[in-house]
Amino acid sequence: MVITSHAGHNPDGKIACGAVGLIKESTEARNVNTKVISLLKAADYTAYDCTVDDGTSQSDVLAKIVAKCNAIINTELNISIHFNAGASDLTGNGVTTGTEVYVYSPASPAKSYAEAICKRISELGYKNRGVKYSTSLAVLKNTNKPTLLVECCFVDDADDIRLYNADIMARAIAQGILDVAGGAIKEENITTGEWLRAADGVRWWYRFNGDNNNYAKGDFYNINGYRYLFDEDGYMLTGLVLWNGERYLLAPEQNSNEGKLMKTTDSKGYAVEFVTVDSAFKKG
Ligand SMILES: [Zn+2]
Repeated sequence: MVITSHAGHNPDGKIACGAVGLIKESTEARNVNTKVISLLKAADYTAYDCTVDDGTSQSDVLAKIVAKCNAIINTELNISIHFNAGASDLTGNGVTTGTEVYVYSPASPAKSYAEAICKRISELGYKNRGVKYSTSLAVLKNTNKPTLLVECCFVDDADDIRLYNADIMARAIAQGILDVAGGAIKEENITTGEWLRAADGVRWWYRFNGDNNNYAKGDFYNINGYRYLFDEDGYMLTGLVLWNGERYLLAPEQNSNEGKLMKTTDSKGYAVEFVTVDSAFKKG
């Protein structure tokens, strides 16, 4: 199956670069888009990036995106990644404004994907605003294959942004697609980030690609061949941890193995070894 995906606007700092609030739509849509493509490729799909970085106006950005999408012959689904604005909740009222996905009409073959993506993103804690229809949005109207437009969450809602992580958002979108199209996310091995000491001088953070807004948090990650677990604030967890109802042992010693997920290798649970990303560990 051939899929295209793109970030919906010009890059940050250029004309038509999208919504700006607590995060920037242009930047985060690119972060999510890149990750969605790599996850789909890792799941053995053919995925093309149709992002446009050199539009001269909003209509030019859209025309160039549509031209890129339509130039790919065998596409079965185009994905457009956006972030919403208009919540005007910069301090947080405890309630997310949430996620929605647009398709052209109820008859669009993209609708089932849109529903699955809404469901997966809402499972992260965002309000599910559901699938919406628009016959006027250019990427829905002018592309010649089924297309959906994801409004991941609201850039100007502090509750949305507290939950938001580009990596986790991308996984939810990719998982929604695979829920319909088949296949599973093969969690890729991250090698391009860096470990940073937390301010307490004891704990660790993992930052992706030098991006100060983009840390591992709230999930397991495969890093340099091992699995690590990070809490919602981005601290790497160690020791015996209860996570989503399951117990995990994360190497407690403060050495180069600290935080690596471990598994028992005998029935009494005495012998342990590190879980590597190649071994058959399935996230709960
Ligand atoms: Zn947008």
